[in-house]
Amino acid sequence: MPIRAVRGFKDVLPDEIELWHRVESIARSVFKSFGLNEIRIPVLEKTEIFTRSIGEFTDIVEKEMYTFTDRSGDSLTLRPEATAGLVRAVSEHRLLTQSPVLKLFTMGPMFRHERPQKGRLRQFHQINVEVMGTKAPLSDVEVIWMAWDILEHLGLRGLSLEINSLGCPACRSIYRNDLKQYLEGIFQDLCSDCQRRSKINPLRVFDCKNEACRKIMRNAPLNREYLCTDCVDHLEKVLSFLKVLEIPFVINPYLVRGLDYYAMTTFEIVSSDLGAQSTVAAGGRYDGLLKALGGPDLPGVGMAIGIDRLLLLLEKDKKESSIDLFIAALGNKAREKVLPWIRHWRRQGLTVQMSYEDRGLKAQMKQAGRAGASFVLILGDEELHKKQVVLRNMINRDQHEISADDVISAVNSLVR
Ligand code: ATP
Ligand code: MG
Repeated sequence: MPIRAVRGFKDVLPDEIELWHRVESIARSVFKSFGLNEIRIPVLEKTEIFTRSIGEFTDIVEKEMYTFTDRSGDSLTLRPEATAGLVRAVSEHRLLTQSPVLKLFTMGPMFRHERPQKGRLRQFHQINVEVMGTKAPLSDVEVIWMAWDILEHLGLRGLSLEINSLGCPACRSIYRNDLKQYLEGIFQDLCSDCQRRSKINPLRVFDCKNEACRKIMRNAPLNREYLCTDCVDHLEKVLSFLKVLEIPFVINPYLVRGLDYYAMTTFEIVSSDLGAQSTVAAGGRYDGLLKALGGPDLPGVGMAIGIDRLLLLLEKDKKESSIDLFIAALGNKAREKVLPWIRHWRRQGLTVQMSYEDRGLKAQMKQAGRAGASFVLILGDEELHKKQVVLRNMINRDQHEISADDVISAVNSLVR
């Protein structure tokens, strides 16, 4: 039996990579235009980074983490999300003492032990943005704006922005108590997961995927009615900036985040084309997180775009690979002759290939065709002797001889 990849872990094959590059390069150019810096952090962290920040009673910490004890007896976890590690890095390297507002992005794999299905993997990939050091509503808006810009640049249609405010710790605690009371009244009708949630983390009952739970939660008291004046003011400012930017939104009062450290603005960008796993990007404000991880008591806001889900929405315009030039060198002498030329062209940025094996002209032309070469340079014993080479245009099939002394400039001027 051949060994296969681990369930829920996926290879990205060469004919899919073009789309990944497109997403990554559009994201990078949007981030550059907003003045963000890149940070790269490890995929492995001490387990307590996640239990302390995400919260013990969340789906992620309770059942989705890849946690193990290493050979030194330390409990380590493959990161299920990026924010906690990123905040750890910011506080460890005191980045916030160097600049009052930090705008960072990172891209990479996340790991969650979930049931694999369309749009849900165990190793998936995110583009993450974090803006730390400010509570200003405009920073929430910039984070949403970046996500929206990236998705729009990619040509996605049918997107909508759902937004809500979770309130600050002060107004949320009053709300939480009232919600708990409501949940006690309907306790018998909740699924077993929600019965547990209702006692320890009542807001999360809104996040349940179970239809029956969703239905009874339609009558639950809503956070919105409990917001203090600061939280109302914050939300209103965010919404009015979004209007100026013409980013359409709907207020979804049932929207909560799966992670404990979120406060105030929370949002998701959903696509009507994705079926059950419809959220392409999600994020919000997390003002208590830096402090919870032993850092400074500073606010932050961030978002994550799920790349794998995003790719399901993009047209599968798989691009055939292609190269600029293929060298059909016949015999070892010819091969030695062309190596310095190849080095020159590669340094110029051309994509150049040649056969590794000593093969006949016919076989090499076939190889050039398969590689998608635009031009082929043919050099055999006879050409060597005459100090001539043959340059063939593979698109219009034109072919002519040129002097070996002129070959470098001839190729440079043709292959552009
Ligand atoms: P869901 O409710 O779908 O489980 P979540 O609240 O767990 O989502 P977040 O932690 O907010 O998701 O992650 C942000 C984004 O990362 C999601 O909107 C989604 O696009 C992507 N994502 C999350 N989990 C997975 C997964 N298992 N496979 C693929 N993409 C994922
Ligand atoms: Mg999840």
